[in-house]
Amino acid sequence: MYKTTREVRGLSPGDPARVRGWVYRHRDLGKRVFIVLRDSEGILQLVASEDSGSEVLEEARRASIESSIEAEGIVARDPRAPGGVELRLKSLRVVGRAEDFPIKGGESIDYLLDVRHLWLRSRRLTAVMRIRDTLFNAYRDFFRGRGFWEVSPPMLTQAAVEGGATLFKVDFFGKPAYLTQSAQLYLEVLIFSLERVWTLAPSFRAERSRTRRHLYEYWHLEAEEAWAGMEDEMRLVEDLVAYTVKRVLDERLEELELLKRDPERLEPSTKTPYPRVRYSEAIELLRRKGVDIRYGEDLGADEERILTEYYETPFFVTHFPLELKSFYMKPDPGNPGEALAFDLLAPEGVGEIVGGSQREDDYERLLNAIRSRGLDPRDYEWYLDLRRYGSVPHSGFGLGVERQLMWIAGLDHIRDAIPFPRFRDRIYP
Ligand code: ATP
Ligand code: MG
Repeated sequence: MYKTTREVRGLSPGDPARVRGWVYRHRDLGKRVFIVLRDSEGILQLVASEDSGSEVLEEARRASIESSIEAEGIVARDPRAPGGVELRLKSLRVVGRAEDFPIKGGESIDYLLDVRHLWLRSRRLTAVMRIRDTLFNAYRDFFRGRGFWEVSPPMLTQAAVEGGATLFKVDFFGKPAYLTQSAQLYLEVLIFSLERVWTLAPSFRAERSRTRRHLYEYWHLEAEEAWAGMEDEMRLVEDLVAYTVKRVLDERLEELELLKRDPERLEPSTKTPYPRVRYSEAIELLRRKGVDIRYGEDLGADEERILTEYYETPFFVTHFPLELKSFYMKPDPGNPGEALAFDLLAPEGVGEIVGGSQREDDYERLLNAIRSRGLDPRDYEWYLDLRRYGSVPHSGFGLGVERQLMWIAGLDHIRDAIPFPRFRDRIYP
């Protein structure tokens, strides 16, 4: 019946075809009307001329920008048409005529956020959303292939995972509850039955400062495995990232091209292992570049950007000072001041896309860590129970989907990696 714009481009001159979509460009030359049709697969030029008949020509004039249309015609080659193919129309019907479309080009970022529901039709955002879909499929295929179980933790929670400062509080029948920052503690529960689990779900962070790589609501890919140490977990993470980059290169080259993202820059990241650098070495590298930072201080976005200049693939930073990391991370037995924790930093200035660690599996030490951070052990009773009934060495990680997408698609701001970004001053559309 209907063919997509992509399918029509594969037909031969003289073939008939029916298409449908939206008017992307419109040019009325009097005796001929050129329409560029847009569908989810791409664009295609349609031409109405006197040969099409006066009714078709008239309807083509009515087909304003962003009107939805159905059309039928004969395929012809024309080097001037996008993709070198056009459809010479025999019939055309405007399905839903568009009023004067408010986006004409050159609008401010602020305005485009106001009309996000219309701006999502842009070819650029469409390309990003298609790459996003490929990532989601690749994550699922990867974990299935590795024998992980997909699980569904709650979004409404009762305690902090990553520190109270970024918790969103909600009124839960008169009692406080919080939107989840991470599914980790729940994944830890589930490894005692399923051993290897993963989930892909929203996380919420009430970040205090606005940056180009923080969202308030983002999609978080998290995995947890029993019987795994930090090294095992790092190998899992690099295999996952390399695999997903490869999938994008195999399936989404057109989209990368549309985004002017050079696939050659991504190619090295399809191979593992990724480089590993200890936090203490990273501090040395930074100091050598003239950065004023001392052992014990956290790596911010600026420091991470400078470190990425040393590598062309993602790389791990490992063994952070214990105080910089969350209460559940296990100290390195050989060096108890440092955590068996790692971040994976993406190249080209992007920085952290994954945070992971081996978890503290000893009851007493975990209890002390909770207390020493001023947290209330009563909030973590069920979590502590996991160390009282058959504790097991285990590790896990969390990956920010929009962070990875930002890197892969070459976006300069995270807001375009998600269809409906939430902002402090606007939760619209
Ligand atoms: P950052 O230091 O960059 O704020 P984090 O260390 O607080 O991140 P984690 O708690 O380690 O973040 O969360 C795991 C992953 O989730 C991060 O590596 C990152 O990819 C992603 N992430 C964290 N916070 C956000 C956010 N506000 N918006 C988008 N992605 C995020
Ligand atoms: Mg982190």
